Amino acid sequence: MRAQVFHGPGDLRFEDLPIPEPEAGGIVVRIEAALTCGTDVKVLRRGHPVMIPHVPTVFGHEFAGTVTRVGSGAAGVREGDRVVAANSAPCGQCRFCREGRHNLCEDLLFVNGAYGEFVALPPRLCATNVVRLGASLPARRAAFAEPLACALLGVERGRVEAGMTVAVIGHGPLGCLLALSAAQRKARVVLVGKPGWRLERVRELGLAECVDSSLTHDLVGQLRDMTSGRGPEVVIDATGRPEVWEQAVASVGRGGTVVFFGGCAPGTTIAVDTRRAHYEELTLVGAFHHTPALIRQAVGLLESESLVPDGLVTHTMGLERVREALGLMERGEALKVLIEP
Ligand SMILES: [Zn+2]
Ligand SMILES: [Zn+2]
Repeated sequence: MRAQVFHGPGDLRFEDLPIPEPEAGGIVVRIEAALTCGTDVKVLRRGHPVMIPHVPTVFGHEFAGTVTRVGSGAAGVREGDRVVAANSAPCGQCRFCREGRHNLCEDLLFVNGAYGEFVALPPRLCATNVVRLGASLPARRAAFAEPLACALLGVERGRVEAGMTVAVIGHGPLGCLLALSAAQRKARVVLVGKPGWRLERVRELGLAECVDSSLTHDLVGQLRDMTSGRGPEVVIDATGRPEVWEQAVASVGRGGTVVFFGGCAPGTTIAVDTRRAHYEELTLVGAFHHTPALIRQAVGLLESESLVPDGLVTHTMGLERVREALGLMERGEALKVLIEP
């Protein structure tokens, strides 16, 4: 099979590999749709000790397809089933898994391999994070299950409810999915982004009120003006920049919640106004990754069309063009590229 194989930072090779065999308890899926992700760009540039512990490995982690082989003892799926799989499987046994916080699992098993024609999924993933799809849900939409589940965790951690104003800072694909998720909960959503092709595209999609951060010297003041001086009830950072985390804390309203969704570079810190944190009872909370329950919730929203992310796919390419697709992502010239083997 043809596949894009990651050999180390900057080293992605288009290779011919044998079609993988299923392990006992595992399955093999023929990939019908894969999506590029901002994480891919970062991982290609500098590697990732947690997501990619061993190289070489087939790259990419957002995909959906059809089961072609079922290993002995694999329950719940049959050949021919259409499925989506998450990119990780929690252990189910550690303290966090037992509390239902599977995203914090102490032994999260990551699985890569979206940019190939087939992928073998290990038994633990099959047991926890492979979901069968209804006939009406196309693979290209189902492949959004993983990033959407991350966004759903963000709005859950923000306790987003109908009628709230939610400001999402960052207009990349996850900022957009956060906006869609908050809007699905009937919140008013303000999406803050930098000027350029991508912000125009997001504006055209009409998924939120858009604010061009370059047009204001005082984002905090502008967000307050847009909310009758109160500030948004929830502010979500989807940029992973410490200075934006600080802006998020500064702009959230009294009693509000800030969700640190974008991961910052290691070793960075932020300053917090202690008076506001205390007297205004701010909630500052992180949101990382997803859980099996949220993967299922994401598939449910996609299947019922309560949330339709199709507009975020700005390009469609074949497997051989993954590097070009990631280049577009890196330059902010694409939101999501659909890769069809
Ligand atoms: Zn992703
Ligand atoms: Zn665990």
